[in-house]
Amino acid sequence: MMDEQPTEISQGAVYCQRDLASVLLTAEQIAARVAELGRQITRDYGGQPVVVLGVLNGVVVFLADLLRHLDLPCEVDFVTLASYGSSTVSSGEITLVREPRLPLEGKRVLVVEDIVDTGRTLAWLVNWLRERAAEVRVCCLLDKASRREVPVRLDYVGFEIPDAFVVGYGLDFAQAYRNLPYVAVLKPEVYQR
Ligand code: 5GP
Repeated sequence: MMDEQPTEISQGAVYCQRDLASVLLTAEQIAARVAELGRQITRDYGGQPVVVLGVLNGVVVFLADLLRHLDLPCEVDFVTLASYGSSTVSSGEITLVREPRLPLEGKRVLVVEDIVDTGRTLAWLVNWLRERAAEVRVCCLLDKASRREVPVRLDYVGFEIPDAFVVGYGLDFAQAYRNLPYVAVLKPEVYQR
């Protein structure tokens, strides 16, 4: 027999509800904040064209939603970064395994990222982009500010969250849970197995 779970968890997560400790952000909270971010970015860019650069793979759900709230001339591209470390902790060595396909010279780039933890990945990417683009700004959905090791400027932040390993709304553990409609805390025993 299945364990009893809070309603938010059991909605849309029948296959994995035993792995989730709690729902940190509901689908409704996320949708409202993403719409706000979209309005703020639209206002700030004031009709100027922007290259929206998503950091794969975790950003796909957030980016798909955010894009539809940007009332701006947009080009969309993606990068993939590899960083070496364990499955829950990133470490020093970072490489770009997929470069942007669009030319970035003279363009305004808005990097869109799912989560910023130590800041190492994003700081590396922003440095790389600053040598190529006219302007670089950053938008992330989730900010684990208490974990920061490398300072990095975040122009737009969806939510500041506590130090817990989260999944859902694009974020994975070992490629699972990306399809959850909310952001949930993964039970530590799942990633400590
Ligand atoms: P940073 O370089 O800021 O330490 O790490 C950022 C990357 O670590 C994110 O892009 C993400 O891939 C991963 N990461 C950090 N914290 C979490 C988390 O709580 N959940 C998931 N799914 N990934 C995380």
